[in-house]
Amino acid sequence: MKTVKISIIYPVNRITAPVVSILVKEYNLEINILHADIGLTKIGTLVADITGAESDIDAALQHIGDMGVEYKIFTNKLIWNEDKCVHCGACTAVCPSDALTLSPEDWSLQFNREKCVVCGLCTKACPLSVMSLE
Ligand code: SF4
Ligand code: SF4
Repeated sequence: MKTVKISIIYPVNRITAPVVSILVKEYNLEINILHADIGLTKIGTLVADITGAESDIDAALQHIGDMGVEYKIFTNKLIWNEDKCVHCGACTAVCPSDALTLSPEDWSLQFNREKCVVCGLCTKACPLSVMSLE
């Protein structure tokens, strides 16, 4: 079994393509959707963790590519240098997936790695360069 984090980009003319259904039903993959922004009149994006047999993942990605739907596999990982973080919260304002939040109890920064779509926006927003991509 293998898990890959992937961004699926739907061109406007393929916005209704049943990608998730195909991945699940035809390739027996588990899909954990982390972020979705899909509408009928714009390019759609969906970020998800996909888990399954490596051969099934490869075949599924080939299938959706053949359908005219693009995809990108994330290979980077976000590094949070927690010791240097001053919990100012600037990064939470740019995080599109709520992976970065401030605790309502003590206003400390909380990082939920499961939700991170590795967009890198927080690395630019942090005034102390506490966040970086590896
Ligand atoms: S890279 Fe940073 S801004 Fe982007 S989703 Fe991950 S935590 Fe949020
Ligand atoms: S912007 Fe940087 S210093 Fe501020 S909370 Fe985020 S990681 Fe910490």
